[in-house]
Amino acid sequence: MKVKKLKLETNFQIILNLNMNFSVSDHLWFMSIALEQAELAYKSQEVPVGAVLVSPSGEILSKQYNLKESHFNPVAHAELLVLTEGAKKIQNWRLSDCILYVTLEPCPMCLAGMIQGRIRQCVFGAYDKKGGALSLGYKLQSDKRFNHHFSVMGGIKHFECSKLLSQFFKEKRSNYHRRA
Ligand SMILES: [Zn+2]
Repeated sequence: MKVKKLKLETNFQIILNLNMNFSVSDHLWFMSIALEQAELAYKSQEVPVGAVLVSPSGEILSKQYNLKESHFNPVAHAELLVLTEGAKKIQNWRLSDCILYVTLEPCPMCLAGMIQGRIRQCVFGAYDKKGGALSLGYKLQSDKRFNHHFSVMGGIKHFECSKLLSQFFKEKRSNYHRRA
């Protein structure tokens, strides 16, 4: 019985894998949707970070932007919001084989959230040397001590993602100097 069940699961895995051959142009497309979310964040005076959660068949389960300022919530990062909304949509916290796109390299908290959600891959845009988990050396997604591992790909639409962020902070600084 046990063997049969395992075999079924393996077949299921193969079917999913066939659906999941996302090409570079797919990654660019989904990242452009995450960027649209980042632009909405910019307009709302939030740090412009946007995220999109995509199902194995390519359906967008959720898209959101950083809501820290407007929700007075230190953990309202775009990544955690799309994980929460996506899980609600499919009525399952196991987001197996989903891909999460985010315009900025995720922080350690969000990377840990992705482990909890059992996602398949995280694709991010701009690198974050000061706050990004990988840049800081926290490669949680491949840490053998955790029971789930996933792949991370960075630099997709890096230029557009980082340009939006630097524009935002430049504006913030000039407003600050004008007030001072
Ligand atoms: Zn985060």
